[in-house]
Amino acid sequence: MAHVNANFLKLASGYLFPEVARRTRAWQQKNPSFKLLRLGIGNTTEAITPHICEAMHHKVDLLSDRRTYTGYGDEQGDQDLREALCDFYQREYGVRLSVSDFFISDGAKSDAANIQELFSPSSVVAITDPAYPVYVDSNVAGGKSGAYNGVGYDGLLYLPARKEMGFVPEPPKEHADLIYLCSPNNPTGSVATKEDLKAFVDYAIRHRAIIIFDAAYADYIREPRLPHSIYEIEGAERCAIEINSFSKNAGFTGIRLGWSIVPGSLETEDGEAGLLNRLWNRRQSTFFNGASNIAQAGGLAALSLKGRAECRMLVDYYLENARIIKEGLEKIGLVCYGGVNSPYVWAECPNQMRSWDFFDLLLERAHVVVTPGSGFGKEGEGYVRLSSYGHREDITEAVEAIKGAL
Ligand SMILES: *Cc1c(COP(=O)(O)O)cnc(C)c1O
Repeated sequence: MAHVNANFLKLASGYLFPEVARRTRAWQQKNPSFKLLRLGIGNTTEAITPHICEAMHHKVDLLSDRRTYTGYGDEQGDQDLREALCDFYQREYGVRLSVSDFFISDGAKSDAANIQELFSPSSVVAITDPAYPVYVDSNVAGGKSGAYNGVGYDGLLYLPARKEMGFVPEPPKEHADLIYLCSPNNPTGSVATKEDLKAFVDYAIRHRAIIIFDAAYADYIREPRLPHSIYEIEGAERCAIEINSFSKNAGFTGIRLGWSIVPGSLETEDGEAGLLNRLWNRRQSTFFNGASNIAQAGGLAALSLKGRAECRMLVDYYLENARIIKEGLEKIGLVCYGGVNSPYVWAECPNQMRSWDFFDLLLERAHVVVTPGSGFGKEGEGYVRLSSYGHREDITEAVEAIKGAL
């Protein structure tokens, strides 16, 4: 008889976004004539830009002719895209990496979920609280935690990111083997400074730990002093893996394209530098057959000077939405964080309300859907996340509706 993987049963505690969808659907069924305004899920809404579209159209044309058709590419990704990414890090961040450190994927979520496979199930895993849910769930499914205890999972080390710390966590006092960080942060919108990241890099080197740095929102940073990549911190190439994608800066949420950086210089307890890079290469070549060649043509165009200028305008649009949300809510006295250098506004629930209660109130009174902070971890209780992904007119309407309802 086949037995299921018991680690997956530990996940039964439910998932945030389906519950948001369930309550939203139930409300809409009761109130079919009302328009619902969504500031919830972080899904991009604006069109792919012309230069990037043109490159993908051209790739489709090449595929339509047997003389230029191509099938499977390299599992690690197209060489020209990996080279362009490597040049991009040097050009924009002053970071020197090797082309062989880069792996192209179908998005940062897959990489964030899969990377834990490289590490022993006995690893002590530290995850910030609140956090993007996939870091916790993948480690639970991967057997690196105990059972759900009603607040969190036994065996995981939660690093609180609280208001008094500017929502940037500190390295743990205890020993950890793996540490997940995300900056600019989803859900809090906080951005780690170089000093913040240096504390983690120093910790990781001291403990021979590995940092998994999610930089999906790096392009939202507009203040030059803030680091876009963890490799801007000296020593990070010995202790950090970085993941990123074209989802939030080029609108590739539906197209699917991301990358991971697993430097050949990473060090682990088990062995010589280069082992993690080789194992990730082995993992990707075995379990993954490469990202879509059309998407990769689009990614290459996104890294060109024209593509970068277009992506900047796209990100500017969402940043302006974030500003409108933040300023609108602050006008009615809500305390808000994030929303600059980030597409997310992290708002404190008024009158000590709990996240789901404020969610219900905004749904009932303003017909606006937000994301309850408690869904991202226990430290998110008392907050909601508002996303700037939406058409300008819908964002403005939602903000006005909240202002009118509270
Ligand atoms: C949206 C997002 C990603 C990107 O995921 P893709 O799979 O590349 O679309 C990664 N990390 C965080 C924290 C995100 O919010």
